[in-house]
Amino acid sequence: MTANREQALERISAGPFHTTYKIGDITVTSLRDGYVDMPIKRLRQPGDKPYGDDLPAQVQLVEGMLRLSVNAFAIDDGQDISLIDTGSSNAWHPSMGFLPQALSEAKIAVERIRTVAFTHTHLDHIHGLILADGRDGFPLLSRLLVPRPELDMFRAEARLKRFHDRAQPFEAGQRLSTNIETMAAHGHEVGHTCFRVASGGETLLIWGDTVHVPSLQFDRPEVAWEFDADQEQARASRLRLLALAADNACFVAGAHLDSPGVGRVFRTEKGFRFEPL
Ligand SMILES: [Zn+2]
Repeated sequence: MTANREQALERISAGPFHTTYKIGDITVTSLRDGYVDMPIKRLRQPGDKPYGDDLPAQVQLVEGMLRLSVNAFAIDDGQDISLIDTGSSNAWHPSMGFLPQALSEAKIAVERIRTVAFTHTHLDHIHGLILADGRDGFPLLSRLLVPRPELDMFRAEARLKRFHDRAQPFEAGQRLSTNIETMAAHGHEVGHTCFRVASGGETLLIWGDTVHVPSLQFDRPEVAWEFDADQEQARASRLRLLALAADNACFVAGAHLDSPGVGRVFRTEKGFRFEPL
């Protein structure tokens, strides 16, 4: 596989809340849970320094705030569906919690979702297990996978109490199915994980919170996020995944890349560039 060859994923369907792509023999759907607005000070230069007047002009703001998409991703191998992250439900800001609408728009029956796996256990990724009305989001769920280093964090979420004992830890490097393999991408959180999805010679890295602000962090991957558990480690993981994607012509899918949040990564003179599909 060369990094330069002409490449695109076939888009099967799309709407305001979802986009479905074909990757070899499987499909991956980006599901839009919503968005969250964050202050500029969340961006951290090396040394944990916030930006002031020196904020680069390329940073896109909405009414003075950083607007982060919140996306989850469903992988359908024809038998059942694995969901990577679940959005916020009603546990945070009302601008999120649209995953059920996204699933219905994508014509994904929630009964087909048998595996839910988390990139990490922050609230905009895990609370969709329970709907706003208190019912289970995925009534036939058989596997609930949490990165091992974050099992206790998951079990500290009172709203998800009925799932505490059902959660199974997974190890980085563990394969979830024929097409899905996990990779450690620690830093943003202690167990932060990337899911490598491969079929028919194409590879997609569902990389969670590797990039929070796409208008800046591809170009300047050294810029970290205030909520990174370990900014230095998060930087190293970001650089490693960006290089992996750029040098191997992998597609990437990000929880906070502008919806649908799927595209390719290219090297530039100093950093990287994201090309959305
Ligand atoms: Zn997040």
